Amino acid sequence: MTIRVRIAPSPTGPIHVGNVHTALFNWLYARRHGGKFILRFEDTDRERSRPEWEQVIFEDLDWLGIDWDEGPDKGGPYGPYRQTERLELYRQYAQQLLESGHVYKCYCTKEEEDADRREAQAAGRPYQYKGRCRDLTPEQQAAFEAEGRKPVLRFRVPKGEVIGYNDLIRGPIEFPTDSIGDFIIMRANGMPLYNFAVVIDDVTMKITHILRGEGHISNTPVQLLIYRALGFPVPEIGHLGHMTNPEGGKLSKRKGDAAIRDYREQGYLPEAMLNFMSLLGWTPPGAESGREFLTKDELIRDFDLGRVTKASSVFDRNKLNWMNGVYIRKKSLDEFAELALPFVVKSGLYTEEKARANWDWFKEVMAQVHERVETLAEVPEHVDIFLKDEIEVDEKAAKKFLTDAVKPFFQRVSEGLRTVEWTIPAIEKLVRSTQEEMGLKPKESFQPIRVAITGRTASPGLFETIYLIGRERVLERMAPYC
Ligand code: GLU
Repeated sequence: MTIRVRIAPSPTGPIHVGNVHTALFNWLYARRHGGKFILRFEDTDRERSRPEWEQVIFEDLDWLGIDWDEGPDKGGPYGPYRQTERLELYRQYAQQLLESGHVYKCYCTKEEEDADRREAQAAGRPYQYKGRCRDLTPEQQAAFEAEGRKPVLRFRVPKGEVIGYNDLIRGPIEFPTDSIGDFIIMRANGMPLYNFAVVIDDVTMKITHILRGEGHISNTPVQLLIYRALGFPVPEIGHLGHMTNPEGGKLSKRKGDAAIRDYREQGYLPEAMLNFMSLLGWTPPGAESGREFLTKDELIRDFDLGRVTKASSVFDRNKLNWMNGVYIRKKSLDEFAELALPFVVKSGLYTEEKARANWDWFKEVMAQVHERVETLAEVPEHVDIFLKDEIEVDEKAAKKFLTDAVKPFFQRVSEGLRTVEWTIPAIEKLVRSTQEEMGLKPKESFQPIRVAITGRTASPGLFETIYLIGRERVLERMAPYC
């Protein structure tokens, strides 16, 4: 049997880290077992579903290196892969259920249902459909039709039974059917509801394993009833634990930590994200002895559902930052410079053309921060002194270090810098010998240069800094104090 797993996001917004986590576990499972990973869209919310969001989902998964074997963009043997293109299929199965008596036409109005809902609320019990249309005679139905009412299709939930399944991650789970009210499978306009459409999709796409978030546990009995009514075999089903923030709450849009896109924009590397997220709810072999860095190939090789927990896991940003820093440091300088470039460009400090025209120099600038940053977004703030045309000189520092007393020293150093061979050792030799000859302390010599050329009292090594800022700019920045 070929393992077939899927994710079924709604293209109504950027893909959430929770969905990506589910995608990752499904994908790892498929890749581990030589199975297929399917991407399909639940786009029946026509108002909110957008092709742009589909594009974002494709791009974000691509960025992470999660590839799919079948999908709306790729096609495949069991398409189409958008629910709105499968409406006829849902209609046929709904008709079958109608004929077998598992569903019935319900003509209740919204007002009637709202009133029932209020009544249940007032009595402090959960709302369940009252069953008003459960046993309508053909005459009663005809009368409603004559009034112009359009029916929804409702599932006739059997009373007094227990329905259950063996969750791949949680073990046996059972639900009394009495806790489930008759539910709608199709709206009057022919749009299927999630629980019905998902079953039809999973069956017709030959899905063998369903791995999804624990939020869907309560939907499972409803889906099981549909499988049973249609005589379909039930796939294996497992529910993954939640991800929470360190306070135990949900990851939220507001804090910019919900969409995977946010992480991309904040300068996280896809390898780090994949590695970090794989550890949320899964324990790799060797974890006992501290193994937590795994390449994509290792993740695929070692992934095992038996080591996936139902417990929730903490999305710990500090740990992610640390891991991301490790991944950044593993990059070659060339790779790092390429990765950092878009962040530098976005910050407005430097253009891509200039960086490409001075690539070796740009790389040397990047070398200054390669070991120091945890995210790519931090790069610009560390290199601005090298890239900016204009700097702002800190007033306090200027007052302290850029006094008239530095003039003679600055004049001599500037003179020398005009012609010195532009290498770090030559610059160092020039500055040091001038300082020594004039009998100055570092505080009276090095620090004033640093303040004049960077605007600040702290920077990477002075001679490297002079070298990287470049002859022309250094002379320009020292000139006002000469
Ligand atoms: N659209 C649903 C979700 O992304 C699919 C749920 C399922 O996997 O059954 O949560």
